[in-house]
Amino acid sequence: MKFNEALKNIEIYEAGKPIELVVREFGIDAKDVVKLASNENPKGCSPKVAEAIAKSANRAYLYPDDSMFELKEALSLRFGVDEKSIIIGAGSDQILEFISRALLMPNDKVLMSQVTFAMYEIYAKQMGAKIVRTASYQHRVDEFLEAYQEHKPKIVYICTPNNPTGDATTKEDVLKIIDGVNSDTLVVVDGAYMEYAAAKDEKYKIVPNDIINFSNVIYLGTFSKAYGLGGMRVGYGIATSSLIEELYKMRPPFNITTLSLVAAIEASRDEVFVNESIALHTQEIERYKVFAKEHGFEYIDSYTNFITYLFSDKIDSTEVANALLKEGVIIRNLASYKMNAVRITIGTKEQNDRLFEVLRSLLNE
Ligand SMILES: *Cc1c(COP(=O)(O)O)cnc(C)c1O
Repeated sequence: MKFNEALKNIEIYEAGKPIELVVREFGIDAKDVVKLASNENPKGCSPKVAEAIAKSANRAYLYPDDSMFELKEALSLRFGVDEKSIIIGAGSDQILEFISRALLMPNDKVLMSQVTFAMYEIYAKQMGAKIVRTASYQHRVDEFLEAYQEHKPKIVYICTPNNPTGDATTKEDVLKIIDGVNSDTLVVVDGAYMEYAAAKDEKYKIVPNDIINFSNVIYLGTFSKAYGLGGMRVGYGIATSSLIEELYKMRPPFNITTLSLVAAIEASRDEVFVNESIALHTQEIERYKVFAKEHGFEYIDSYTNFITYLFSDKIDSTEVANALLKEGVIIRNLASYKMNAVRITIGTKEQNDRLFEVLRSLLNE
């Protein structure tokens, strides 16, 4: 069989390891596994959401409301944007896929930071596009605009806060990048962790209305992180209605399940839960900074729900991640990003206690 040529240089995305794998491979009880690898909300989801899903279970046989009216209304109120400016995806991942398919032709270029969300590259390569990366992982305005001038990419990805590094770009700098790009290039502002950055420092807070007056900009958000709904797969894109209309041409019908819609609508109503999640996070991440200082390694100042530890040559990130895994603690090794670093989702107090315990004994060996 001859597959699409474009598939040749795609590496399959390696998702964070699931709890089930650790149970199977190491015979550890599921309740003892600590998963800090996929930036899920350690508080789980809002109890109101769990209740709403349970109540709606008997609606599983029904196709969902394909207009997604209620969810769009909730987002429209939250962000002060028109419902025609919103598209809902099975995770914001699906919106990234729509964008890629709607815009890219073979040999088009896309521009992104040196180290950023892996799916930008994969969706672009599926279309036969070429990847251009800046020299550093930070989203530096000069690096982006120089690369833009040189390569004239069709899409520019700005991931702020950035995954897997945790740093963020100020609103001012994002606007500078947008300003330096012609209107025939789409700028994607991926705000998957924006709730955390906004709580930490106003300068980094970007809301859709800051940027979608530009016809060539789309803002992406998700319910997977601060809202605690990773398992329900709901994300959104916000842009001018004419851009959204093009993306709609790529959308399969009923792309959000009936129960996922119920969950996202209910989650939208529970801002208290999100605020509590951020409060827990803000408290717990401080302990990770102290731990790093105590053990003499660096970390990247985080605007997200995870922290990235940077190791010196004396510590190998792959060894650390593997050793932790054997103890039932799952974190993300960043060796595949060519970084001797690990990304750790900030957990509950108990989960973090366990991680520190295992990591401490490992580092002291
Ligand atoms: C988690 C994440 C997403 C999307 O997640 P979905 O679960 O597909 O909504 C998008 N971008 C970044 C940078 C992420 O970390």
